Amino acid sequence: MQHHTPQSGSGTPPQAGRRSEHFASHVFNEARMLQYLTTEAYQSVKNAIFAGSKIERKMADQVAEAMKTWAISMGATHYTHWFQPLTGATAEKHDAFFDLLPDGRAIEKFGGGQLVQQEPDASSFPSGGIRNTFEARGYTAWDPTSPAFIYGSTLCIPTVFVSYTGEALDNKTPLLRALHAVDQAATAVARYFDKTVAKVNATLGWEQEYFLVDAALAQSRPDLTLAGRTLVGQAAAKGQQLDDHYFGVIPGRAFRFMRDLEAECMQLGIPVKTRHNEVAPNQFELAPVFEEANLAVDHNLLLMDLMEKVAERHGLKVLFHEKPFAGINGSGKHNNWSLSTDTGTNLLSPGSTPMKNLQFLTFFVNTIKAVDTYEELLRASIASASNDHRLGANEAPPAIISIFIGSQLTQVLDELEGVSKGKLSPEEKTELKLNVVGKIPEILLDNTDRNRTSPFAFTGNKFEIRGVGARANCAKPMTVLNTIVARQLTAFREEVDALIEKKKLKKDEAIFNVLREYIKSSKRIRFDGDGYSDQWEKEAARRKLSNNRSTPDALKVLTAPESLALFAETGVLTEKEIRARQEVELETYILQTQIEGRVLSELVYGSIIPATIAYQNSLLANIRGMKEVYGAAHKPLTEAQLGILEQLAEHLQGARKKTDAMTEARKRANAMNDLGKKARAYCEAVLPYFEEIRYHCDRLERLVSEKEWPLAKYRELLFIK
Ligand code: ADP
Ligand code: MG
Repeated sequence: MQHHTPQSGSGTPPQAGRRSEHFASHVFNEARMLQYLTTEAYQSVKNAIFAGSKIERKMADQVAEAMKTWAISMGATHYTHWFQPLTGATAEKHDAFFDLLPDGRAIEKFGGGQLVQQEPDASSFPSGGIRNTFEARGYTAWDPTSPAFIYGSTLCIPTVFVSYTGEALDNKTPLLRALHAVDQAATAVARYFDKTVAKVNATLGWEQEYFLVDAALAQSRPDLTLAGRTLVGQAAAKGQQLDDHYFGVIPGRAFRFMRDLEAECMQLGIPVKTRHNEVAPNQFELAPVFEEANLAVDHNLLLMDLMEKVAERHGLKVLFHEKPFAGINGSGKHNNWSLSTDTGTNLLSPGSTPMKNLQFLTFFVNTIKAVDTYEELLRASIASASNDHRLGANEAPPAIISIFIGSQLTQVLDELEGVSKGKLSPEEKTELKLNVVGKIPEILLDNTDRNRTSPFAFTGNKFEIRGVGARANCAKPMTVLNTIVARQLTAFREEVDALIEKKKLKKDEAIFNVLREYIKSSKRIRFDGDGYSDQWEKEAARRKLSNNRSTPDALKVLTAPESLALFAETGVLTEKEIRARQEVELETYILQTQIEGRVLSELVYGSIIPATIAYQNSLLANIRGMKEVYGAAHKPLTEAQLGILEQLAEHLQGARKKTDAMTEARKRANAMNDLGKKARAYCEAVLPYFEEIRYHCDRLERLVSEKEWPLAKYRELLFIK
């Protein structure tokens, strides 16, 4: 069992020629299914994708046979179930298509049974106690909504990962449930406007930020290799102050890496589109065309794996950590999200008719209302030890969730708020339709004037969650967002129907009435100002918005009664599953902080103190020599050396003291049994030492000679050519 994808060997070498010719050449997609499947089997897969229906065993056998035939024709020898354990990465288990009998005959191993279900030995994946409780093993089961693909010589089959008793042990299962919930709820509401709508898909377009560093240099830094970020390091004389990296010329090495990566993405059907430099030196971004959310999540995970593989070939290391370097912007992964019907309508896109715009307003206002009600849960969905360093660091959105909608839409909502209650007069209706709803332009000006400090922004025809970490699995925020919107749309539908039936209102009157109430009651979540300012923090507190700065704080809401009710009602997670998830997240937080603490101790004692002492010795030798030559007259001549010696001693002592104190704090935290308390202890009693230790180490880096310093410097790490 390998954690972290990439399959055996490297991928197929990128081919020359036009990109589009190779697009999805390694994917068992619709075109290939038509080619390899009987009509009956094809229909059965299509139904499973559209309606979530089960695929019968007979059909599964046919699909497995077809997949195998295709995969072998492409040179594949193995297959694997590819899944997303709660660690956030991906995992897989490889099996050969054929086995040899002792007499040399080959027997076939890959049938419908292997396609639909497999039982990896999953005892080492985190499950938050579920597996223990049930003494159950984990099963992986095919997700037909995400097409199988070939990487290297392996057919990879995207799967869910569940316990024997059906509990989700992965990030994909709840996402699929949330997408199903939002499909049901949004379809019911969309049918107010268009009776022909039969399905609504959530769409996701992520924007992946990352750093590239030289692999050999990274190798010399235990903090980068073990923790994914630098725990010490003096800022380079030149950082991002010139802003000359953003949209600048991509350095040659990075460019060759990107070209290679994009070719592989094309073969695997990942529709990458844009690439550019980011604000910080060595920082880049890659974004695809948006896709159905489940597929987009799989593609993002696959991309991250591919990036690591391809980077290796180019002697580079990719850093996905949200804050790999102090004093330089970190990396995020904006999640652009919308809802789209099977009739081709983006439900969050303003239209050309009042009816289209009423539909737009319905989904727009309901999303705002959902985020207002469950803002704390959305914050929890992006919480992680590494993202804590970024949220609220005046480069990423704050830990307070608010929504930016721009001045034009604010005005529209203000006007709608003034609509009178109950039945509307014919004049009022005309006024509303023509001058309020009818006035919403198809292209919003604010779309170009984005508020970069907002964590949840409307950007013309979609919402954008900005706080997602670069390392994160988008499935987490996508599960929460789609769940809360599903819950909200269901409530909306019930309220509107009640007004139509009991108060005898017309449909559009009822919709206006409910929207007006939502606009009023969700006002506090809307904020167009500077999200980085201190005033906003105070104002947000006055509005009773949550401000959970750390992961242990943010995760608490997961098991609040309202959260449990939400997940149960929408069928996304049972109480047992949520409690298990909270446990896993807390454990992950503790482990990551613990690893960083250990690495930091090792760096201080194993590298920094010895280097400092070596330099001290060379200064002492120099002073002794000066004394020998100049006798008593050496004093004024060795003033600088003595001064440096004193500073070295001061920071050496500081680094040692703080490191020892940190180790003591870790021991106290480790002795705690309650996970919540332990996580809090790591956050409040251990973590603060990191900065203090770093302060002394960075001073030492400035004092000790370059020759003696054992770690690659920021200057070397940050400027690849
Ligand atoms: P930019 O932000 O560079 O101006 P766009 O506004 O077109 O570009 O899109 C930004 C990101 O939003 C892209 O990654 C794109 O895939 C994604 N996106 C665009 N429309 C949608 C949508 N309807 N649903 C989800 N994501 C979308
Ligand atoms: Mg963006």
